[in-house]
Amino acid sequence: MKKIVSIALTVALMAAVVTGCGSDKGAAAGGASGIDSAALADGVLTVGTNAEFPPFEYLGDNGEPDGFDMALIKAIGEELGVEVVVENMEFDSLVSAIGSKIDVAIAGMTVTDERKQSVDFSESYYNAVQHVLVPIDSTIATYDDLKGKTIGCQLGTTGDFIIEEIEGATSQQYNKAVDAVNDLANGRLDAVIIDSNPAGVFASKYPDKIKDLDGADFDFEIEEYAIALPKGDTALQEAVNVAIKKLKDNGTFDKLVDQYMQ
Ligand code: GLN
Repeated sequence: MKKIVSIALTVALMAAVVTGCGSDKGAAAGGASGIDSAALADGVLTVGTNAEFPPFEYLGDNGEPDGFDMALIKAIGEELGVEVVVENMEFDSLVSAIGSKIDVAIAGMTVTDERKQSVDFSESYYNAVQHVLVPIDSTIATYDDLKGKTIGCQLGTTGDFIIEEIEGATSQQYNKAVDAVNDLANGRLDAVIIDSNPAGVFASKYPDKIKDLDGADFDFEIEEYAIALPKGDTALQEAVNVAIKKLKDNGTFDKLVDQYMQ
């Protein structure tokens, strides 16, 4: 008897699940979101970041990732109707983790042709340029002055790629950019190359030791930050782009800029 009841219940449940999903393929693939994306099938958007890049991402007082990117992706998750779960990992692992450990990555990540071979990107949401941090008494002021120097950076970043191109320069790669900045302050490096906003945040820790030079004086190109997405998941890409546009149009995006940027 018990068994029959349980079988009946199982059948009823299965019927409910099938009806719940409906006949729309999109709803089935994207879970509750109704977006035809395999990444959203479980109703969760698992987001990789590297919480070492203030003001875009850093560990808040409660030990959880906080910052502009975190607030932005949570707002995007709300628009998509999915839960956002953040995985904090090394920056250099983010691109390869998309599609396995994580669904997408947001990490002040610059759109590059090389990364585009492995992932797709959302519309860009922020522009930046590399800055050069140097000791306060340094004479470094132009691109040529960087030749032959020992320069710190975060491993696998666009700053790292720039150093590779500088004649005779040695790239000292760190997992955390803050460690490069600490070594600069302690006299172990000639310079650090890092994105504009984090450069400002880190340099302000050492106002008597470090100066923050604008990449424009070094002819560095403008970089565009975007969310890295699984390659070929156009439904997710479109949904994320629509969400970004909506958040820009309704003023949410500007509010986050005011809240998080210095
Ligand atoms: N914008 C740089 C890049 O994409 C640095 C990003 C970071 O360190 N989080 O490589």
